Amino acid sequence: MDKYISVITNFGCHYTCPYCIVRNNNLHIPKSTVEGLDNLEKEIRRNNCNWISLSGGGDPLWNFKYNLEWYAKFYMIALRTHMHTEVHTSIISIPKEISFDRVVYHLHDLKQLQFIKRNHDEEIVRVVFVVTKNFTEDLINRIAVYCHNSDEIDELSFRQMVDDHYQETDYCKDYLKAGHQKLWWYIEQNDYNLYYCENKVYTEYRRIGE
Ligand code: SF4
Repeated sequence: MDKYISVITNFGCHYTCPYCIVRNNNLHIPKSTVEGLDNLEKEIRRNNCNWISLSGGGDPLWNFKYNLEWYAKFYMIALRTHMHTEVHTSIISIPKEISFDRVVYHLHDLKQLQFIKRNHDEEIVRVVFVVTKNFTEDLINRIAVYCHNSDEIDELSFRQMVDDHYQETDYCKDYLKAGHQKLWWYIEQNDYNLYYCENKVYTEYRRIGE
């Protein structure tokens, strides 16, 4: 079975996603540093992980050209530990210096789908929509049809939004649950991940940096 370690980065972000859990809940995710990767290899081995997933925080690809040293160290660790790599990003173009086994694009508008392109043949492409108040069954269907017909997109998820009081919301929940595992994945906000941030491991997202 796959086991993920989620590396939470904070290189900053545009902070414009309407559902941004970090901004809306004023979370204080530590800034990413090269030294903050020092314990990553040890934690990967200790937890028997086979996937590293980069996520935020901010956007892992924000200000990429200023973070080359961080990425060089990250890839060295990934290579040494034979990890599969994944990134969660809202930035639609992946820098050509790096590549991942899976890219998870976080989108908030149907029109963004047309810009999603596979970067290499083995790349798995997933799109995720956080379900905000403006979602309707019709919009969900249109997204699902687009993704189903696309050669560039392999997987589609809808994710339950967490509001500005760190509470789960239920927009279109019954409809999304009915299509779960058939037409899309519906991800409820269960916090059972292993998070790595600046040399420490957490099991709850909101505790990171505390
Ligand atoms: S990419 Fe992430 S951190 Fe940036 S605004 Fe969107 S949700 Fe917030």
